[in-house]
Amino acid sequence: MSQEVLETFLGDVVDCGKVEIVVFSGGEPFLVRKKIGKPISFLCAKGLAVSVQTSAYWAESPAKAIRVLSSLPGISQLVVSVDEFHQEFVPFQNVANACTACAELGIDIRIHTLAYESERVETQLKERIPASVASKISVYRNQAIHLVGRGHNLRDHPNIVRQDVFPERVCFSCSVAFLLPDGTVTACGGDMQWNGKGCDFFELGVLGKNSFSEITSAAEKNYLVHAMRLWGPKRLAEIAIARGVAANLGSTYIRDDICDLCCDLFSNPEIVDVIKKELDKAGFRREIALARAFFLGELEML
Ligand code: SF4
Repeated sequence: MSQEVLETFLGDVVDCGKVEIVVFSGGEPFLVRKKIGKPISFLCAKGLAVSVQTSAYWAESPAKAIRVLSSLPGISQLVVSVDEFHQEFVPFQNVANACTACAELGIDIRIHTLAYESERVETQLKERIPASVASKISVYRNQAIHLVGRGHNLRDHPNIVRQDVFPERVCFSCSVAFLLPDGTVTACGGDMQWNGKGCDFFELGVLGKNSFSEITSAAEKNYLVHAMRLWGPKRLAEIAIARGVAANLGSTYIRDDICDLCCDLFSNPEIVDVIKKELDKAGFRREIALARAFFLGELEML
């Protein structure tokens, strides 16, 4: 994707007036610091919040943390990934340096960690940063280790627990548009995206080929995306059972990991076919439209 296509897209994002925050995630956005500086300044100047996700590998000292963050004016929130897998490569002190620098520069700080590690992470942070900084940090606890990227070979990790029940949660990712490096815009920012097991069901368009209004219109009309926002993949697994293709489903899933179930559903052509047919039915569409109105206050499909 060229810088020019990206800038046009961000201009459209601003003009639509519906987007409040843009998140730069990775990989590691600070590895391409020179490329993201201009988009961040542009979005900030237009009044949008900008969040950047990082491991804080660059915050080797308090002074360097201030210097690096100051070189990217316009960041309103820094999200730092902190867990045993990141700390294999990044000293914990870097995280503390980044947090202290954020407090000094008025940037919100959020820590993303794993639920089973959160106590250790919070204790270590309190040991390294002033209480006034610690009180400003919010901690988000991921419930599951995801078996994608560097985690693809962690099936036997002691904190991966498999259960013979469907994981149950709505998909928050489907309320967000993810822009991939090749220009594809998708509603799935989770495992399907990263393990190549997904289908094109979640794709909303391609930058440079589709206009911004075509992409937002595709998102609005995508009944699958809205079903995932309302019920998550469990509802679709129950449809697969009701339509007689349950034998194609796995027998266990990772506890609290809806992406594990989702990948299983959408990597099976027979189940995908069943879901597609269900989503074409007027009754199910009506139910989705009504549920959007009732639970999300969105009237567009009525
Ligand atoms: S639940 Fe499915 S659609 Fe949602 S993020 Fe996970 S893999 Fe993607």
